[in-house]
Order: sequence, then structure tokens, then C-alpha cells
Amino acid sequence: MERIVIVGGGAAGMFASILLAEAGRKVTVLERNEKTGKKLYITGKGRCNFTNACTRDEFLEAVVTNPRFLYSAFDRLPPAELIETFEKWGLKTKVERGRRAFPASDKSADVLDMLRGRMKRLGVEVITGARVTEILISGDMHSVVGVHYEIDGKQRIFPTNTVIIATGGLSYPSTGSTGDGLTFAKKLGLAVKDCRPSLVPFDCAGDICRQMSGLALKNVELTVKKGKKVLFSEFGEMLFTHFGVSGPLVLTASAKIGGKIGKEELSFTVDLKPAVSVEELDQRMRGLLEESPTKALKNALAPMYPSSLLPVLLELAGVDRKENETDRDLRCADVTRGLREELLRLTKAFPLPVTGLRGYEEAVVTQGGVSVKEIDPKTMACKKYEGLYFIGEVLDLDALTGGYNLQIAWSTAAQAVAAILSQEE
Ligand SMILES: Cc1cc2nc3c(=O)[nH]c(=O)nc-3n(C[C@H](O)[C@H](O)[C@H](O)COP(=O)(O)OP(=O)(O)OC[C@H]3O[C@@H](n4cnc5c(N)ncnc54)[C@H](O)[C@@H]3O)c2cc1C
Repeated sequence: MERIVIVGGGAAGMFASILLAEAGRKVTVLERNEKTGKKLYITGKGRCNFTNACTRDEFLEAVVTNPRFLYSAFDRLPPAELIETFEKWGLKTKVERGRRAFPASDKSADVLDMLRGRMKRLGVEVITGARVTEILISGDMHSVVGVHYEIDGKQRIFPTNTVIIATGGLSYPSTGSTGDGLTFAKKLGLAVKDCRPSLVPFDCAGDICRQMSGLALKNVELTVKKGKKVLFSEFGEMLFTHFGVSGPLVLTASAKIGGKIGKEELSFTVDLKPAVSVEELDQRMRGLLEESPTKALKNALAPMYPSSLLPVLLELAGVDRKENETDRDLRCADVTRGLREELLRLTKAFPLPVTGLRGYEEAVVTQGGVSVKEIDPKTMACKKYEGLYFIGEVLDLDALTGGYNLQIAWSTAAQAVAAILSQEE
């Protein structure tokens, strides 16, 4: 019986190796790092949000790119079945708010230990420090015949008729995912969709974000527009950083409209008080101003805004400019209606000077990858070459945060394994 080669010992590759070995297949995982699952270890801030206990519709809603491609893979291994499988393999799990599933211990290391332990017990061969450099194709260009890999500075050939590529995308390259699978695909003449970082923070121009660095805003509404057209408008939490903005709301926006940033003229605004109408805000502000007419405006408005945001807001409204010393201590009694209206306008539409996306070093996933048109969704097999399979993030598939990206890795792995096993029956 010939060995099946899996290129990449990340989430998808490890999982596929276990399923194949359970079915009695001989499997070798070639992993370029010194150990498997480096990225899995840092997932979910070290807690590994390994799936989302959702329905198929909820899952497909959370998949940003090519959700329909995943219909069949999801049914092959839905989250409930994955959780059951992990429990069966000895991992205690729990489901938290937003249906996010974690190991009960909150330790990603436990997920890794379970997978590595199972691979070892089932006799999966793991060759670490082995970087695959080429996929070898038969002379008639019809099927896979092996892979070329480099180990200890030496080139080796691993002959096999079944290769599963599970090399991941381009994000967090320090974990080993540097896009090798995309290079293989291109060399083989397969279409690869342009890649960009996703679930990634935004860079902003100027100094305002740096001034508010560390400030987290809960329940705000981020709106992205092109002219008058609203491209994105959602509620959530965001965080100011020394370079721009981050946080769940920004990551979601990066996944949904990130491709347009830097290419099209967009406006980004934050409603700092989405639950309160302008009229109510005005009433509140007027109350504070009238309460203490001799107080400095910056002190009187303190109950309405976080302390690091207020000076920025006043500066944007034209108060407290360094060159105008008299404005610095503008008293409440001297606040004009125009200034009050400007402050309210900024509160409901605080402008973010977004200039671009941060890089792959900070991106949770890659958008783009091997075109799903090259792959049969029922088998994960490459349509052009017999015996070649692609699974996980190397494919042009990505989802929002919440455990969905790992579910893509597990489900596509299960789908490929089922196809390989059924072929051999
Ligand atoms: C910081 C961070 C946190 C995340 N948190 C979550 C989360 O909580 N929940 C969630 O669902 N998703 C999360 N993700 C996304 C998730 O980790 C990925 O989508 C998932 O790991 C993809 O699995 P994969 O097996 O396709 O690729 P990877 O896990 O990236 O594995 C690819 C493997 O292939 C190896 N490799 C690459 N090229 C070669 C080569 N030429 N030869 C040999 N080996 C090679 C790499 O070294 C690597 O080990 C997170 C991502 C990051 C960066």
C-alpha cells in the first residue's frame, strides 16, 4: 500500500492524517517547521476557538469568500460532529458566547496534544524540517507522481500517487505559512486568486489614533461609504492603536470591504453613541453646559466621552488648537450653537482617516488563494491532476472570526479523506 503524502502539518494536514490513519492508510506528513501545528498553538489568543457550534446556514453566512463551495464539505463534517469527534479523542470542550467552541482548559496546547498524540498512536509518519519545493507530475501531465523536498540542505524525492496540499495561506508567515502552496499551484498552471490580508487592523493617517492608543470602544457603529453608498455598517467593539484601529469590528470590516481600501475613495466614520439620537445627545450636552457656565468645556463634557477621546474631539471641532491659546480653556457659557452642532456631528460620525490594511504579519487569515474553480467541492481533488488535493487556507476560502476558519480546515480535510478512501474501496 502506497504512502499518502500530506504537505503541511497545520490544522488541516494533521486532521487529514489522523482520519487517513484511522482508516488504515499509511500517511507521511512533511512539515517545514521543527514541529507541527505552530499556528494552531496561537489561535484564539492561545485558547484555540476550534469551531463554531452553528448550523449550516449560519456557517455559510460567516464564510466571506466562496461559501457555496463549502456546502458539501460542511455536511461531511459539521461542527457538532467535530466536537463529538474531539471529545471522543479525549479533549474536553466547551461552547461559549457566540457559539464559539474551545477546549475546556482554555489551552490551545491541549488541542495540539490531542492531535499530535493521536497521530503518533496511529503511526502517522511526521518528517519535520522538511520543506516541499515542488509537486512532481507524470510525463503525460496527467497525475501526481511525488514531491520534491528539502531537508538538512539536501534535496529529496518522495514518490507517491496521492498528495494533499495543506500549506495554509500567507498570514503570520512566522508560523510557516508563506504561500508555498500558492507557488506550487501557479507552477502547475492552476488559477490562483490574488491574495490580501484579511481579519486585519487598519492603518490611519495623522496623529489622532496614536493620541487615543489603548482606548477600546464598545457598542459603536462603524460605517464605510463610497460616496453616498453604504458598503459596510455594523455595531461592535473597536480599539485605537499607535498605528490606527483594530478590534473585532475593524477585523470584520477588513474581511468584508478590505479589498476596496486603497483602491477606491472611501469614507470611514464611527457613531460613538449609536443608541442615542442627536436630539437626546444635544439635550444632554446642553444640560452639562448650562449646569456649569464658568467651567472649561473640556472639563464639563468629561461625563460624555472617554478621557483620551475628548481632547481629540475638541481638536477636530476646532477647539483647543495649539495656536489659539484663548480657546484652550473655552468656557461653557461661550460655546456657540455652531460648535455644539459640530461636536454632535462628530459624535455621530467621527472620521477615521484610514489609509490601508496592515500586513500579513498581523492578519488572522488570507483572502484569495487557489481558485475553487480548479477544485471539485465534493472531493477537494484538483480537476487537472489525478491524485492531487488541496485543503484548508491555501484555497480561496475565508471566513469571519468565531471558529469558522478552523472549521473550513477540518471540513475540507474530512472531505478529501472521504474521497481518497472511497476511491480505494
Ligand atoms: C493569530 C491567529 C489566530 C487565529 N485564531 C483562530 C481561531 O481562534 N479560530 C479559527 O477558526 N481560526 C483562527 N485562525 C485562523 C486559522 O488558524 C487558520 O485558518 C488555519 O490554521 C488554517 O489551517 P491550515 O492547515 O490550512 O494552515 P496552517 O495552519 O497555516 O498550516 C500550514 C502548515 O503547512 C506548513 N507548510 C507550509 N509550506 C510548507 C512546505 N512547503 N513544506 C512543508 N510544510 C509547509 C506550515 O509550516 C504550517 O505548519 C487564527 C489565525 C491566526 C494567525
